Amino acid sequence: MIIILFGPPAAGKGTQAKIIEEEHGLVQLSTGDMLRAAVAAGTEMGLRAKSIMDSGALVDDATVIGIISDRIDEADCANGFILDGFPRTVAQAEALDAMLEEKGRKLDHVIEVRVADEVLYSRVETRVAATPESERRADDNVETMKKRLEVYHAQTAPVLPYYDGKGMLKTVDGMQTIEEVTTEIRALLSA
Ligand code: AMP
Repeated sequence: MIIILFGPPAAGKGTQAKIIEEEHGLVQLSTGDMLRAAVAAGTEMGLRAKSIMDSGALVDDATVIGIISDRIDEADCANGFILDGFPRTVAQAEALDAMLEEKGRKLDHVIEVRVADEVLYSRVETRVAATPESERRADDNVETMKKRLEVYHAQTAPVLPYYDGKGMLKTVDGMQTIEEVTTEIRALLSA
């Protein structure tokens, strides 16, 4: 099973992906986590990506498409995977379609976790207050959140009509409790 969990930053995609991962024997693929690992390892890609990520902008399409294309060929993805934070542009969505077709695989579910902007801001404020500065992500602050949300609405939200046009888009209310959101996602996956 191949699933896209779609939504703005701090919508809870990562939390939900980890729960579904265990229940369905899938692998969570977070391009954000992979890019942060490249930054931490000091690779050439990481060095290029760091300042872009810190500013809240998007890393270029070719880089993230390459990361995902290589990653889904690995043995642990054979049973399926959950994409968390990819695709983030229409070009990435088109590239994903092309690569899945080429690899003889098929997308099963696209689930949008919908959360209002005000709620996202208050989540970040709560997290900043609760996390010591040394443990915070460089892009986890209200200022960068503003930029990340602008980027989401301008570049990522247009991916929604792309999948809706294919009749694939399902939406869950991400402003419920974690358990309620999981229950809705489970129902969509078993439908
Ligand atoms: P995330 O952990 O998904 O919030 O991603 C953190 C940052 O990594 C984003 O703000 C982008 O700078 C970069 N990033 C992650 N996934 C992508 C993607 N699919 N396309 C472009 N940039 C990405």
